[in-house]
Amino acid sequence: MSDDPIRAAVQQLRRLPGIGEKTATRLVYWLLRSKEGTPSEIAAAIAGLQDSVRECEVCCDLTASNPCALCAREGRDETTICVVEDPQDVLAFERSGEFRGRYHVLHGAISPLDGISPDALRIRPLLERLRDGTVGEVILATNPNVEGDATALYLGRLLGNLDVKISRLAHGISVGTEIEYADAVSLARALQNRREVS
Ligand code: ZN
Repeated sequence: MSDDPIRAAVQQLRRLPGIGEKTATRLVYWLLRSKEGTPSEIAAAIAGLQDSVRECEVCCDLTASNPCALCAREGRDETTICVVEDPQDVLAFERSGEFRGRYHVLHGAISPLDGISPDALRIRPLLERLRDGTVGEVILATNPNVEGDATALYLGRLLGNLDVKISRLAHGISVGTEIEYADAVSLARALQNRREVS
């Protein structure tokens, strides 16, 4: 750790994904010139994150309240669950305005190369939610890539013997585009044109 506070701040910011030396330096100089208190406000918001945010006990999305706001909201369709890989995907679907049901967040996708097996995902809580028969359709909205497809295939087989319709997003979003980055119109179309897999 450097004694130079500017250098030290640059080194810390560089630990963030997508932030290189140049960007980190630019941010540090921006912070130095910002309104007094701004760096502390930013630091405080980040410092409290891990303590205040937990997984929702129903859908496993990250939230400060339990159950999360979406699970607690009245009027959402209880019979349809959209299964996504990451919390950011929930935000993407909400932006599309197309989906009125409930979500389930797996927190990743099956990836043998990265050592991520089905056990590492929130699959058990999903099975719990399907137990009482309220849910009539599970939409597998994993990403259109190798890991996402493997995860959808695995879940399709696992849920195949339950009395529930299982569907997969249509290829409205191009292969390789993660759901998180898909535009709202494409995502809405992929959802509308979803196809039943079992
Ligand atoms: Zn929830």
